[in-house]
Amino acid sequence: MTTKVTCPKCRLDELALGDRNPSCKNCGYAGAVSAVAEAYVQEFLGRKRGEGEWPISPCPECSQPTLVAQVEEVGCPAFVCFGCAVTFEEDDLTRETGGRWVKV
Ligand SMILES: [Zn+2]
Ligand SMILES: [Zn+2]
Repeated sequence: MTTKVTCPKCRLDELALGDRNPSCKNCGYAGAVSAVAEAYVQEFLGRKRGEGEWPISPCPECSQPTLVAQVEEVGCPAFVCFGCAVTFEEDDLTRETGGRWVKV
């Protein structure tokens, strides 16, 4: 499974997820899953670690801490895992106490 999202460097929708490490088919930007997810969050959601709610949490599909929430602020779908590339719409997941997203 491969999903493309917006690249934090060149801002084209060419950042391919799900094929080992994320990589941009346009500008060549690539990195470890967690590093790219963090760059994405900082660039598009304007979040910094330790400031407010951190939008990266464990993925209900692959259990890696690479699920980015609130992607709908910059485009559909609402959740994307930068590791396994699974996507969820807003109604697909619900938040447990403790902050972990689980499937409805
Ligand atoms: Zn790029
Ligand atoms: Zn995943």
